[in-house]
Amino acid sequence: MSADVRSFFGRPIIIGGGIAGLLTALHLAPEPVLVLSRTPLGSEASSAWAQGGLAASLGDDDNPMLHLADTLAAGAGLCDAEIATRILHAAPSAIENLSTLGVRFDRTPEGALRLGLEAAHGRRRIVHADGDGSGQEIMRALVEAVRSAPSIVMVEGVEARRLAVEDNKVTGVWASCSTSPVFLGTGRVVLATGGIGGLFHDSTNPLGSSGQGLALAARAGAVLADLEFIQFHPTALDGPARPMPLISEAVRGEGATIVDETGQRFLEYLQDAELAPRDVVARAIWTHLSNGHRVFLDGREKPGPTFARQFPTIASACRGAGIDPAQDLIPIRPAQHYHMGGVAVDRDGRTSVAGLWACGEVASTGLHGANRLASNSLTEAIVCAHWVAESVAGSPLGVRTRLTAREIRRPIHSPCALSSHAALA
Ligand SMILES: Cc1cc2nc3c(=O)[nH]c(=O)nc-3n(C[C@H](O)[C@H](O)[C@H](O)COP(=O)(O)OP(=O)(O)OC[C@H]3O[C@@H](n4cnc5c(N)ncnc54)[C@H](O)[C@@H]3O)c2cc1C
Repeated sequence: MSADVRSFFGRPIIIGGGIAGLLTALHLAPEPVLVLSRTPLGSEASSAWAQGGLAASLGDDDNPMLHLADTLAAGAGLCDAEIATRILHAAPSAIENLSTLGVRFDRTPEGALRLGLEAAHGRRRIVHADGDGSGQEIMRALVEAVRSAPSIVMVEGVEARRLAVEDNKVTGVWASCSTSPVFLGTGRVVLATGGIGGLFHDSTNPLGSSGQGLALAARAGAVLADLEFIQFHPTALDGPARPMPLISEAVRGEGATIVDETGQRFLEYLQDAELAPRDVVARAIWTHLSNGHRVFLDGREKPGPTFARQFPTIASACRGAGIDPAQDLIPIRPAQHYHMGGVAVDRDGRTSVAGLWACGEVASTGLHGANRLASNSLTEAIVCAHWVAESVAGSPLGVRTRLTAREIRRPIHSPCALSSHAALA
């Protein structure tokens, strides 16, 4: 349907249709909310590509303080220990909430969550869904929930171009659709625009992850933090494909090793060898490549014959490059993978601009420090989405009731197809 954008005046607007944006919208229910996504839901979102899963201390041998210790160690002394403690304590119940929303996590025959191991985690604590298709399965469930939520209006194919701000307060969003710009007046905006990998030649991120949320926030005067903290994943499939297919750490968690063209393992001198933190493994591989070697992941023995069953997405990417991962070595090299820095937020996800929140990869909460521990980012997104929604719901509307002359001069009827599952009253 086509709708008059004035119908939405004053509603909170969430920019981004990945896990952070969709879950924030669902937590805000029954408050009416508008979600803008530049592309059709599920496309161009890192969320749909996540392989490893979500980290949470769910095992009998585990607890949030052990998870915290691993997180702080990976973060190289630069995590905010207070926020990390809060997020990691909330992780198990946030995963439970995803189950309630319909996410089908992998379970043991007894029905318990199946827990995987990833680099720099001292315990098995990675929850998967559909093997290495975790992000896809979570997005499936969230998209279904969003499409049937009467409080959520989902607008696909519309890009947020600028935030309107007066006296350090958000007053609306300028958005572009196919034919003309529209102004959406609101005093409450959540940025959930994801990462920056599209800016790099070698990246595992969707090409459209180009840091637009950072630009929107910076132009609105928001404080950004730790922009230089960029994580490179050690094991992207080395070939011509861009973005580069990711080969999850979980494959090394199941016993795959890293070797060079001579067949020798060369990471054994590192503490935890192949399962050392990402930055350590990535640097060691890069040094080896720079010294003229080629580097491979060897999964022929472990996971071996069960490779394709355990990691169907990765096996399919390998087959696309003419490689059978149960029989052949997989050529690898490091690639940009995750942005730890972002829009600085407080414990409720509030930025330094009134009425502006940030959630997911675009935000800098302080959880990751200088280096994200594997699978802590989806955990951060699902935990913080809840807190951001509570904070948005508890904030005054703060929206102007009258448009400025400049806003009025702009077309106010949107030609975009604004699909609504609700009465717009
Ligand atoms: C290959 C891969 C594997 C990964 N595996 C894992 C894993 O196993 N575990 C883990 O914890 N993390 C993993 N990550 C990281 C994790 O997936 C991301 O950090 C997380 O999904 C980010 O979610 P998000 O909702 O913040 O952003 P995204 O999912 O990237 O969504 C951003 C959304 O914002 C929209 N958007 C952007 N700009 C605009 C704009 N101006 N206007 C309107 N819409 C806009 C985009 O179209 C998109 O819908 C992986 C990442 C990749 C790339």
